[in-house]
Amino acid sequence: MVNHIELVGTSLIINLKCPECGTLHNAGVINTVCINENCRSTLFTQYDLTTGLNKSVLKDRPATMWRYKELLPVINDKNIVTLGEGFTPIIPVENLKQYTNNNEVFWKDESGNPTGSFKARGISAAVSKAKELGIHTIATPTAGNAGGALAAYAARGGMKAIVYMPKQTPKVFKDECRLYGAELIEINGNISDCGKLVNEHALLNNWFQVSTLKEPYRLEGKKTMGYEIAEQFNWQLPDVIFYPTGGGTGLIGIWKAFDEMEQLGWIGSKRPRMVVVQSQSCDGIVKAFQAGLYVSEFADGGFTIANGLRVPKPYADKIILKVLRESQGAALTVSDEEMSIAIKEIAKYEGMLMAPEGAALWPAYKKLKATGWVEAGEKVLLINTGSGYKYLENMDI
Ligand SMILES: *Cc1c(COP(=O)(O)O)cnc(C)c1O
Ligand SMILES: [Zn+2]
Repeated sequence: MVNHIELVGTSLIINLKCPECGTLHNAGVINTVCINENCRSTLFTQYDLTTGLNKSVLKDRPATMWRYKELLPVINDKNIVTLGEGFTPIIPVENLKQYTNNNEVFWKDESGNPTGSFKARGISAAVSKAKELGIHTIATPTAGNAGGALAAYAARGGMKAIVYMPKQTPKVFKDECRLYGAELIEINGNISDCGKLVNEHALLNNWFQVSTLKEPYRLEGKKTMGYEIAEQFNWQLPDVIFYPTGGGTGLIGIWKAFDEMEQLGWIGSKRPRMVVVQSQSCDGIVKAFQAGLYVSEFADGGFTIANGLRVPKPYADKIILKVLRESQGAALTVSDEEMSIAIKEIAKYEGMLMAPEGAALWPAYKKLKATGWVEAGEKVLLINTGSGYKYLENMDI
């Protein structure tokens, strides 16, 4: 039985719904993916959006993602584990305007988040909800940034973190996990290999896993980028949003936020076109979208400096592809060389040192502008998902 859970705080959470088969799940207990054996989809948290919640409540709220706490899953505020994540700045392209003529192009700069990436958002939400549900040990596979974020938020929340990371990952990602007190397990393989092992070990040891989109609440944390984009652009969404896609959590989350805000009456029905940018080495979504397919194939071409994009087959590939179709979006790849050039160009002229994942959006934007897909007069938002400082070891400077 799925019951509405009693509200003792401000969250408007009702239950979880499977976007594939519609099965409802009780949000008052621990959930992973859809319980329907033939489905196993990522679950979407549902809120009561009919209460008349007015955006004026935001006026006196702190500049963190928890300013949208009614639309986040934590029922009791005392369970919120926060380090000040979110409400990151929107920064216009300034000194590279020769490439953007006829467009207004902005960065949403996630690099200032705790632990240096937007993973902080998802992990803050997931760890907070785990705390509320009485969980003590949390494990995750990671390409780097999710591990550091989990380690930090688990430390903050008084929980134990176990992190599985490919051996090839730069040292700083490992060091931060250890410093934050996590148990770090290095794997000879990629993130899919890490995922399989976490799964086995978590079942054996009764740990809770927060693998990308196999747990409902990281999505909720990342969705706050969508709320912020609306609020920071004065409730008029940009025309095009570029997103560096690994597991696709942010892309799906932003799209979910737009849907919720329309139901709340905070925005209208106009939507940005969403652009998936992948690394040349992991191009499954790009290939599937261009071929008109509804699922992607496993694609791992090996090492890329953008470790966050080395996801050979995103768990929620169907939902990513659906967002691309619904938004009339586009999908394209960028090479490591293009990312390196972009990192240097943006650092030198804009004063921002970006993660390769974020920097990848710059050549991707230039390409889609050159083909005319991005049109004159359009407002474009690029999401820099992380700080470049953690990647310097792999860079030829
Ligand atoms: C994880 C990560 C990504 C990919 O994020 P998803 O939401 O899983 O697609 C992009 N950039 C950076 C810096 C990351 O750490
Ligand atoms: Zn289902």
